[in-house]
Amino acid sequence: MMQKILNYIDGKLVEPKSGKYLDNYNPSEGKVYSLVADSDERDVSDAVIAAAKAFPAWSAMPTEERTKILLRVADLIDRDLEKLALAESIDNGKTVKFARSVDIYRAASNIRFYATASPHFASEAHVNEGDSVNYTTRFPIGVVGCISPWNLPLYLFTWKIAPALAAGCTVIGKPSELTPMTAFLFSQLCIEAGLPAGVLNIVHGLGGKAGQAIIEHPEITAISFTGGTVTGKKIAATAAPMFKKLSLELGGKNPNIIFADCDFEQAMKTSLLSSFSNQGEICLCGSRIFVERNLYNKFVEEFVKRTKELNVGDPQNETTQLGAMVSEAHLKKVLGYVALAKEEGGKILTGGNQLKMEGRCANGYFMEPTVIVGLNEKCRTNQEEIFGPVVTIMPFDTEEQAIGFANSTPYGLAASIWTENLKRAHRVAHQVKSGIIWINCWLHRDLRTPFGGMKQSGAGREGGWEAIRFFTEAKNVCVKL
Ligand code: NAD
Repeated sequence: MMQKILNYIDGKLVEPKSGKYLDNYNPSEGKVYSLVADSDERDVSDAVIAAAKAFPAWSAMPTEERTKILLRVADLIDRDLEKLALAESIDNGKTVKFARSVDIYRAASNIRFYATASPHFASEAHVNEGDSVNYTTRFPIGVVGCISPWNLPLYLFTWKIAPALAAGCTVIGKPSELTPMTAFLFSQLCIEAGLPAGVLNIVHGLGGKAGQAIIEHPEITAISFTGGTVTGKKIAATAAPMFKKLSLELGGKNPNIIFADCDFEQAMKTSLLSSFSNQGEICLCGSRIFVERNLYNKFVEEFVKRTKELNVGDPQNETTQLGAMVSEAHLKKVLGYVALAKEEGGKILTGGNQLKMEGRCANGYFMEPTVIVGLNEKCRTNQEEIFGPVVTIMPFDTEEQAIGFANSTPYGLAASIWTENLKRAHRVAHQVKSGIIWINCWLHRDLRTPFGGMKQSGAGREGGWEAIRFFTEAKNVCVKL
């Protein structure tokens, strides 16, 4: 009997109303290993009824009590770190090592961060001497929907539900149908931690069915979504006319700008990580590398040499650096972009092909890390999000040109800048149109900072108080003195 991934509704693990299940693949073996609930609007409706019933008590609970419960959930994630890391790796294809140190570690941090933040959340007062006092209170917004993607499954799922729950909202969550396992294991931990029934409900299934039902449900007042830009547009088209509050974290095509005066070794080491970590399947990966012309040849030569040395293989092996791509369809899409790059005149300096493994992973979806040069900034390869282990490298001559290249796409999520010149670092940071700029680093995260993108990379910000504000509604009370 294959394991079934059930919905978590009203505190219980339940079968989908349809009685149907979708195949869930292990991408490193290329085979089905579990079944995930194929939910529809009936399951979403049950989840909303449970969440609405739980809302009055959860939102009125003293913050300290909510904090205690959420901290118990975080402690259980720590207890099950190894089990969850292995599960994430099997479900997504990423290495166990990465899942342990990034995904699952961060899932516990997300919950701890917001559980301990909410008692410090304060509102504002505006005093008009001798005339009036205004004070602003913030109330949890109600039943909210949190929809997350497959690339950092439990990490991004908890990044949304933690602030929602800490703020006093009740939640309908939907993880990606491609990577539902750790959210299922998480629902078991919530039950064990004593999270009251209905406070968090997890409905599994397809985006166009279960996800769409969440977006359309009239009693869900806010939607926090992370995923592709095309899906984000669809969600906005449905939710905006219903006046739902929306937070959209979408795709990226992030520039990595390297000036000749950089710390070469740091820039090189970190650029390898920002190009190929998690198989390049991180929205923040720097997929377009721009190198100042007098450093270009040296950078390309060394970068290609080190890319060739990267170890692609069994995600359960601790020395593996790149695991499997999430699905066969996604692998084909990424290989399609390599073919497009060739058509557009690009030269593949290394990689570009699917990789065949031996043994357990013989049918897995592996790909060589790929470096492409010889393209201009306007071609499709350099304009569209590929979301795989593929980077392009281009030379630039001036600071202005580098900024122009960086800003040439419809996206504006993140950027890295490498230079030892302090003035230039700030100058360029201020002109690159991205919501997140890293100077001489990458993926260096402080959970208090605003997180999100400009242009087609999204609307709104997560992180710190931004997320607590999103899940609460402001009310101003004016008192005439
Ligand atoms: P996706 O948009 O296909 O799916 C994301 C989620 O939305 C899934 O749970 C899916 O089932 C659901 N969904 C799909 N259609 C829906 C609909 N009509 N209504 C409601 N829900 C629907 O994205 P993906 O392929 O899972 O993830 C990859 C994308 O996510 C990339 O573009 C990546 O850049 C982006 N991403 C962005 C961030 C960020 O913070 N900005 C972080 C990670 C990933």
